[in-house]
Amino acid sequence: MTLTETHCPYCALQCGIHLIPEPPARGGHGPGLRLEPAGFPVNRGGLCAKGWTAAELLDHPERLLTPLVRTVAGDRSSPLRAASWEEALARIVGAIGASQRDHGPDSVGAFGGGGLTNEKAYTLGKFVRVALRSSSIDYNGRFCMSSAATAANRSLGVDRGLPFPLEDVAQARTVLLVGANPADAMPPSMQFLDAGRAMGAKHIVVDPRRTATARGAYRHLQPVPGTDLALANGMMHVAVREGLVDDAFVSGRTTGFDAVRAAVNGYWPERVERMTGVSEAQLRETVHLLARERPAMILTARGAEQHSNGTDTAQAYLNLALALGLVGRPFSGYGTITGQGNGQGGREHGQKADQLPGYRRLDDPAAREHIGRVWGIDPAELPQPGLSAYEMLDRLGTPGGVRVLLVLASNIAVSAPHSSHVIERLRALDLLVVSDIFLSETAALADVVLPTAQWAEEEGTMTNLEGRVIRRRKAAEPPGEVRTDLRFLKDLADRLGRGAYFTDEPREVFEELRRASAGGLADYAGITYERIDDEDGVFWPCPAEDHPGTPRMFTDGFPTADGRARFVRVEHRDPNELPDRDYPYVLTTGRNMQQYQSGTQTRRVRSLTVAAPEPRAELHPDLARRHGITDGDLVELRTRRGAAVLRARCDPGIRPDTVFAPFHWPGINTLTDPALDRHSRMPAFKACAVMIAPLTPTKGPAEVHSTPRFMQGVFPFEGKGLDEPVPVDGALRLVVPDGVVAQAVYFRGGNSSGELVCAVLMRDGLPMRYFPIGARSDVHVSLRVVEDLDSGTTVELWLAAPAGLTGTVVVDLGLVEV
Ligand code: SF4
Repeated sequence: MTLTETHCPYCALQCGIHLIPEPPARGGHGPGLRLEPAGFPVNRGGLCAKGWTAAELLDHPERLLTPLVRTVAGDRSSPLRAASWEEALARIVGAIGASQRDHGPDSVGAFGGGGLTNEKAYTLGKFVRVALRSSSIDYNGRFCMSSAATAANRSLGVDRGLPFPLEDVAQARTVLLVGANPADAMPPSMQFLDAGRAMGAKHIVVDPRRTATARGAYRHLQPVPGTDLALANGMMHVAVREGLVDDAFVSGRTTGFDAVRAAVNGYWPERVERMTGVSEAQLRETVHLLARERPAMILTARGAEQHSNGTDTAQAYLNLALALGLVGRPFSGYGTITGQGNGQGGREHGQKADQLPGYRRLDDPAAREHIGRVWGIDPAELPQPGLSAYEMLDRLGTPGGVRVLLVLASNIAVSAPHSSHVIERLRALDLLVVSDIFLSETAALADVVLPTAQWAEEEGTMTNLEGRVIRRRKAAEPPGEVRTDLRFLKDLADRLGRGAYFTDEPREVFEELRRASAGGLADYAGITYERIDDEDGVFWPCPAEDHPGTPRMFTDGFPTADGRARFVRVEHRDPNELPDRDYPYVLTTGRNMQQYQSGTQTRRVRSLTVAAPEPRAELHPDLARRHGITDGDLVELRTRRGAAVLRARCDPGIRPDTVFAPFHWPGINTLTDPALDRHSRMPAFKACAVMIAPLTPTKGPAEVHSTPRFMQGVFPFEGKGLDEPVPVDGALRLVVPDGVVAQAVYFRGGNSSGELVCAVLMRDGLPMRYFPIGARSDVHVSLRVVEDLDSGTTVELWLAAPAGLTGTVVVDLGLVEV
């Protein structure tokens, strides 16, 4: 056996890896393979800790080597025992037949994953529609990429995460990263960001946590979770008001800008500052950098997208990129950073509830006609779109819901939102079948568990975060009774009488996928295994074998009906849950560097579990002090859906009103909110209300010595001009005493005059915040930007009013000295 060129099994960067045969080191099941990083264009010899240790999984002692079935069929309290494939398949076929006879075709369904190869994702979608004749299929990418994908489809006409190669990032002079932390999630990709920074590029990171990516950036904006859309609309407001819009691009290549321009009128920076906690100055600076320091790009990721308004949030950043004329230009544009290994290809070829291969729509008659022809069936046989992932899971085992579920490459008992509820629903199934490499938390609930081949034991293709189709190559035979999912689906289709429509040969599947995708948005017709080998991957769309592929999209037009990109008006909506008296903080979830997704694989790699053995609840030291918590204490996080116990990690880099928990361990998603985005059906993983308590309170809240201060009163005024603030009264002046710092916490004001006036908070004679007060009205501003006013600082309230205007203002600024 010789060196095998393949790719890391984990994230969408799909780093190049060489596998080199060597004698088994530990007498395990596997053939013994040494792993080395390859000089592939996305990693250029780099790997993260996950990639370096990926070969440990191949001969891991916990590897599933035979099918498992319940000792007593139908009794999940009985233990799992080894079984033959014949017995396992017989149980599945029996349950499918009984369920479909009694409850109809849709009572049998499948749940796929963004880690499946293109060949497997394609076959799974076809299997459900052709062999089961069911509409019940969706996959875990619904929990990952669906919001950004929906926004890109409606605005650009197509969804390819990065419409340019990753190397372009190094050439951008300004990069706005929203809810993305590649330094932890995909470290080798940082070499492109670092190269840009070394040449003077300015990177602005938007994240409620000061992540490793944010620490190295030029600027870190730290908004309240769930307010990213308001932030984007605020930037658009500044772009419009300050003449930064690329009018030629907007008029020549887009439609719909007028509605967006009207919508962002209401997002003036002072208001956005109050909504988001990002200062007006930072907002303005960011837009000016994007508009003037070109080329520039905007990249979003799950932090912005996994919300009940995730589609509109991604859209708001797309709108901004279009308005500034960034899209379709060299080293410039909008992109979303795909997470899962085949998160891109997995969302193109038919394992989504509403989709057919080639990114075609299941409810499109022409698409049904085309796919019916390729599959050799009457298009009328194809079911209609089914339910999205959480909606399907929510109805498992209920009348009208799925009763027999096949789960491939997904650990939904850990990764689904409100996971305790999902586990209940899984238990209500008539039959649960899980195909995996280990006994995951979901597999442990199953009636039938099927051992499947791993990354180095199979052939296939993946499509990375750039839309580059690459080869996964086989370096070893699967051990024991392990079979590929293609073989399992073919065997099952044979027993269901539909085997003639299926093959378990990856290359044959890919050839069919090419025909099925031809003419679709994600067109693979011109991509062959040989071309992938020769060209370091091929970028779709690639409609013919003599077509070079499309590394950079939108240079000439957009695949929309009129060839133009579409602006879509979007408005901020509060998250489904806001903090209140009972649940006073915001919980947000995300990744850490050593673990991947639900941890089925990485929690079994020794060096990774040594580095990250358990989830830590990250909270600001001020918040911890308030609850008598110190670093390392066990704390309980509780939301309206359940509780989880974690050890605390105090970090001054997180907002004091926010708690972060990594989602790689069971129980974290018990907390998260399954409220769905109305467009993409994405759950609100990234923001819900949470309370926090030490598990065994030993210390009680730490004493915090603080002194409230107020600058308040009723004062007559005479305006000198709206752009000329002047002192109002000596009572509205405070010098922060020695040994303390002060923070402004709120402003209230009233205005008796018939015109707008503006109270101005001054720091050492310079404006710090503006508080507009309308004619004969009042305002109450909660100051969510935590900004220390050091001892010796002179704090004053001044007033700006139209020249000659007289009247009375009531002002009340609340501060605290600590
Ligand atoms: S960055 Fe992603 S693809 Fe690369 S080694 Fe790490 S997990 Fe694997």
